[in-house]
Amino acid sequence: MHDVLIIGAGPAGLAAALWCDQLGLDALVLEQAPAIGGQLSAIYGPIENYPGLRAANGQEFLEAFADGIDEAGFDLWTSVEIEKVDLSAKRVSLRSGEELQAISIVIATGVRRRQLGIPGETEFVGKGIIESGARDKERYAGKDVCIIGGGDAAVENALLLSQTCATVTLVSRSRKPRARREFTEQLGTNHCITVFNEAVATRILGNSEVEAVEIQRKDAIKPFQMAVKGVLIRIGVEPNSDLFREQVDCDVNNYILINSQQETNLKNVFALGDVSNPIAPTISGAVGAGATAAKVISSRLNSVRQ
Ligand SMILES: Cc1cc2nc3c(=O)[nH]c(=O)nc-3n(C[C@H](O)[C@H](O)[C@H](O)COP(=O)(O)OP(=O)(O)OC[C@H]3O[C@@H](n4cnc5c(N)ncnc54)[C@H](O)[C@@H]3O)c2cc1C
Repeated sequence: MHDVLIIGAGPAGLAAALWCDQLGLDALVLEQAPAIGGQLSAIYGPIENYPGLRAANGQEFLEAFADGIDEAGFDLWTSVEIEKVDLSAKRVSLRSGEELQAISIVIATGVRRRQLGIPGETEFVGKGIIESGARDKERYAGKDVCIIGGGDAAVENALLLSQTCATVTLVSRSRKPRARREFTEQLGTNHCITVFNEAVATRILGNSEVEAVEIQRKDAIKPFQMAVKGVLIRIGVEPNSDLFREQVDCDVNNYILINSQQETNLKNVFALGDVSNPIAPTISGAVGAGATAAKVISSRLNSVRQ
């Protein structure tokens, strides 16, 4: 029996684990990936908004952020496959057959990129599906590329790729890109970028690598194909709440609902970071939430144990 089982080793889960350790709680962190860090490993541009710590990319940030974690007193299991979670019983069943039990459960599973669900999207991963403008702009230098999406991430990536690519086409479903003004203002003056509003990508085509994308414009009868060497998809994120959403209250987009103590509608079940924060998903928010949950858990256990 552990005091706390923490599911996810991104910034939220790691911060919660560190606080649990400091407060003398017995915590076990379960991470499905082979390494810790969560979304930090997908940040290829600079991080300049975390007070007191600036980094050239997520990996550099993680090295400083996780410094000392090895010496901390909590247990951390990576490459863990969770089969089932019974939140009421505070029991986690692993695919390996192990059953884990705790007094409190902390859900810190973050978000994943939303997928388009069109042909070619998964087939061409690593073969023309661009992972990141910041990381891949030199690889696609001089080539024609297409970005699908109209939010901050899509427009920011379009601007980054326009620094090296021959042409960048932004395909946005809405009447105009919804990204913040700082980004959209630059679109108007960037001659490398063409924007197709009210349009959707319907297929990504190619043989061994991406060769074209099929686009359907709202005012056109038929889709058309555009030759491109790379496609970057940024159509938002969705919470990793699949394991829990039948058991805890969630909003319409499946983000876990919490109170000011980070607690869900189930007693001693907490949710932290992006999985419960659709409004302002940030590293600092995730870290603060970790501290809050650990302190609440600690004070409850202390009052029972005294
Ligand atoms: C490109 C990019 C740039 C960003 N830039 C910034 C920035 O400049 N400043 C900033 O503050 N924020 C930034 N963010 C956001 C920031 O990374 C997130 O807010 C933060 O990582 C959230 O932490 P988290 O722990 O809640 O979730 P995550 O980082 O998503 O971590 C969740 C962890 O849970 C694990 N997990 C999921 N499901 C399971 C399961 N079933 N079992 C076990 N483990 C599971 C995942 O593998 C992952 O390791 C950026 C994000 C991206 C993608």
